[in-house]
Amino acid sequence: MSKPYADREVWFFTGSQDLYGPETLEQVAEQSREVARTLDASADVPVRVVWKPVLKDAGAIRRAMLDANADDRVLGVITWMHTFSPAKMWISGLDALRKPLLHLHTQANVELPWADIDMDFMNLNQAAHGDREYAYLATRLGVARTTVVGHVSNPAVTRRVGTWVRGAAGWAATHELTLVRFGDNMRNVAVTEGDKTEAELRFGVSVNTWGVNDLVAAVEAVDEAAVDALVAEYEDLYDVAPELRAGAERHESLRYAARQEIAMEAFLVERGAKAFTTNFEDLGGLRQLPGLAVQRLMGKGYGFGAEGDWKTAVLVRAAKVMGEGLPGGASLMEDYTYDLTPGSELILGAHMLEICPSLTTSTPRVEIHPLGIGDREDPVRMVFDADATPGAVVVSLADMRDRFRLTANVVDVVPPTHELPKLPVARAVWSPRPDFTTSAEAWLTAGGAHHTVMSTAAGVEAFEVFANIARTELLVIDEDTTRRGFADQVRWNQVYYRVAQGL
Ligand code: MN
Repeated sequence: MSKPYADREVWFFTGSQDLYGPETLEQVAEQSREVARTLDASADVPVRVVWKPVLKDAGAIRRAMLDANADDRVLGVITWMHTFSPAKMWISGLDALRKPLLHLHTQANVELPWADIDMDFMNLNQAAHGDREYAYLATRLGVARTTVVGHVSNPAVTRRVGTWVRGAAGWAATHELTLVRFGDNMRNVAVTEGDKTEAELRFGVSVNTWGVNDLVAAVEAVDEAAVDALVAEYEDLYDVAPELRAGAERHESLRYAARQEIAMEAFLVERGAKAFTTNFEDLGGLRQLPGLAVQRLMGKGYGFGAEGDWKTAVLVRAAKVMGEGLPGGASLMEDYTYDLTPGSELILGAHMLEICPSLTTSTPRVEIHPLGIGDREDPVRMVFDADATPGAVVVSLADMRDRFRLTANVVDVVPPTHELPKLPVARAVWSPRPDFTTSAEAWLTAGGAHHTVMSTAAGVEAFEVFANIARTELLVIDEDTTRRGFADQVRWNQVYYRVAQGL
């Protein structure tokens, strides 16, 4: 079975101490190996779980954590105190750890062996208090972690471990991320501004700008044979409008879109970038606003934000990685307009052009239509409806001046209730939880952005893990949200996150 993060690992650390003697420690080793094996074999856990020798003293613990820090394959570490591992031994190790941490609170047996239990069994199986000693110390040190409780044979446990792995993979992805901005952000827009220096410290992402004419030169230089091949691929994969096909009157426009895709991808590959932004106010010598090209690159896993929105591009890239191997996808999304029919309100989301085809399993149509803004030739774009997906999520990232805030809304993507014959862009229609008015009031209270990532693969729990690792505020709007509770949470967070940063 090939795992979605096949080239990555999570290390499994078991805590104990020398006090127990070799015979018990051998059993600890064997049983913890079995726990790690079960996690590794689970289809819910999208990465290799690598068991490491039992940790019995402070020096070994510190060394293990430093090795995990230094190994780029390691997404995070799982710790379990099978026996009692006096937690002062963990101080320097946990203090040194820079990778995401999962505390697995489990034990070797499911049932308590009521008839046979003796003091040897009690001596061996002490996680119930060993993990409490460890968790006390981790809490005292303020170590960000995810805690998962239960036996590893329970699918609820492996699913939560899997979600943690996905959140950790998102964190790794933003730390490995170089983001190319073609031009600055749209003039006068507030929410697309942000502190790029803080973002590099907080999320690891390197955000820099290139003049759009660097891209223009690359577009002009694309080889005709490469354009031929890509256009043939479009005709093969998509339902291409007759006027755009080879030999038809507007075929040149499709060829120009292909040229943009090839040049943009080469530009990104050359810089090792996995995310980018464009800005329709700064297109330089580009003949079309890149639509199809951007959709295709998002489809290949690149993060993207329109109008220079690099923060949303970071989220799109993180969501792509966190959702790897799951059905569905991730895209830039924008709340566009509503159906306000009382009791059945819906949100129509789209963008000018740039919605990722990973949101659909249908065959997109490739069409060309005029675009009122951008002042360029008509752009080519894919048109489709996002697949109906219950429990999808939209997430925004806003700079609140002293920190970043993630706002998430759990939403149910639904089929459009009517045909949209005159709307020539890809779109999604959804019903937000808990209901439209509570969701929108909460979102506006939170100051969430109008640009989001929509993820129909990775769910809100993966974003919660990501936010926790990144020590970044996340406000979640879901089926449990109430107006009053949410407003209070926003107020209290305002204090908490300021205090948590230190005075
Ligand atoms: Mn926009």
